[in-house]
Amino acid sequence: MRKYFRDIFQSIWTVLIGMKVTLGHLFVPAVTIQYPDVKPKLPERARNRLYVNMDDCIGCLQCKMACPVDCIEIETVKSLPTDNLGTTSTGQKKKLWVTEFDIDIAKCCYCGLCVFPCPTECIKMTEVYEFSEFDRKSLMYNFVTLTQSEIGKIKLKAAEFEKEQAAKKAAATQVAAASKASGTSASSSSPESTVKKSQKPS
Ligand code: SF4
Ligand code: SF4
Repeated sequence: MRKYFRDIFQSIWTVLIGMKVTLGHLFVPAVTIQYPDVKPKLPERARNRLYVNMDDCIGCLQCKMACPVDCIEIETVKSLPTDNLGTTSTGQKKKLWVTEFDIDIAKCCYCGLCVFPCPTECIKMTEVYEFSEFDRKSLMYNFVTLTQSEIGKIKLKAAEFEKEQAAKKAAATQVAAASKASGTSASSSSPESTVKKSQKPS
């Protein structure tokens, strides 16, 4: 009978010891938050999802070259002398059309190495860290703002311009070669050269 009451007392005592710890925490500020309804405050310089402001991108490829996992793909097309691509917010004149700018965010390791070398500070880390997808293809981010038809026109014009330039260069080379040839034949038939050729060493 004594053992019976001792066991009851011990059970209640054990519960009270456990509750002492719980009761102690009732009067201190909570350290947990109601995620995802409440978001934690991110530390300064936290590395999350990347964003590229294409208005400021000059297509210099610095970010691509810095990426250790090769997850940035960029394609550029040289602008024509008649094109006006404007300037970046840092005042740099844009000379290249950026016709492709993809980041495979599934491969990205958030090292931030692409952010630092950018001369116009247009590639940066955002505060977005919840971007999981069911389809892996959805993690391929395309930042180009040009439409496919615009890209097609740009490439076509660039190709035509290059062809024109090559034709002009070839024509100029031909003219130069022809004038050189006519100059050589004229000089070889001049009286001075005839005299020189007919002179015998003394
Ligand atoms: S954060 Fe690192 S891995 Fe991701 S794109 Fe930039 S350089 Fe590449
Ligand atoms: S480093 Fe900056 S400006 Fe150069 S290609 Fe990358 S995002 Fe564009």
